[in-house]
Amino acid sequence: MCNVVYFNGKFSKFSEAMTNIEDRGYQFGDGIYEVIRSYGGVPFKLREHLERLERSAEGIRMYLPWSIEGLEKICMEVLNRSKLSDADIYIQVTRGTAPRNHTYSEDIKPNLIIGAKKAKDLSEKREHGVKIILAPDVRWKKCWIKSTNLLPNIMAKQQAKEVGAFEAVQYEEDGTVTEGGSSNVFAVFNGTIVTPSLKHNILPGITRAVIIEKAAEEGINLEEGALNVEQLQEADEIFLTSTTMEVMPVVRIEEKVVGKGKPGEIARKMQEVLLK
Ligand code: PMP
Repeated sequence: MCNVVYFNGKFSKFSEAMTNIEDRGYQFGDGIYEVIRSYGGVPFKLREHLERLERSAEGIRMYLPWSIEGLEKICMEVLNRSKLSDADIYIQVTRGTAPRNHTYSEDIKPNLIIGAKKAKDLSEKREHGVKIILAPDVRWKKCWIKSTNLLPNIMAKQQAKEVGAFEAVQYEEDGTVTEGGSSNVFAVFNGTIVTPSLKHNILPGITRAVIIEKAAEEGINLEEGALNVEQLQEADEIFLTSTTMEVMPVVRIEEKVVGKGKPGEIARKMQEVLLK
């Protein structure tokens, strides 16, 4: 079992793959990415992730010279070569390599990385629930694009880490909650799940979409709407979702206890049905 990466046609270990210092991803963060989990050697929602990658590419006017089927094949080859059962598959496409200039020419060739690493086991964190902090959302207005340009997310998540919190949940100037630094947010009020709608400058999370679907199947009421920080503080339950976190219960917002101070029933239920 080892980490394996495909980089522009060649397979190697992550530590051995080298890029050019004039890669626009390196110099400008001019790139897009996806993270996909595999369970028992089977990627979860691979096609949905690749479709979002295509939308991100369109969003930054990058032409992807690979079909979804072609990318799927490389993902599977990387996964098989890694021999990992539970892996995080990382896909990154940067606009390409060229002498440093903000503008680019249309014929630039994108650089593709597809790698697999052993997935972290977060089950213990999920068992106890985590603490979050609240942080102003200072990102750009196109957060539906999964860009490698992640400075605001890095700053917010680092701030969380420094006070022993797991995630930073971001909010707009008017107090409207958007999403975590690398997760979507859900709150529960009297048995109804509320999550910020896609109008709120968030990433359309693949896990978020699965939760919406599963809540309907389970007969749990779910509303995509608006959520502000005051409401979030009063929620009976809060949970975060992402490919790597799955469903992560939140038990504290900074020093304030959420609900009963332990993972809620609805979060548990959603985790239980997520992969079914
Ligand atoms: N929002 C942001 C900002 C993220 O980085 C992520 C994780 N990539 C998510 C939400 C969750 O998305 P997904 O469920 O597709 O992993």
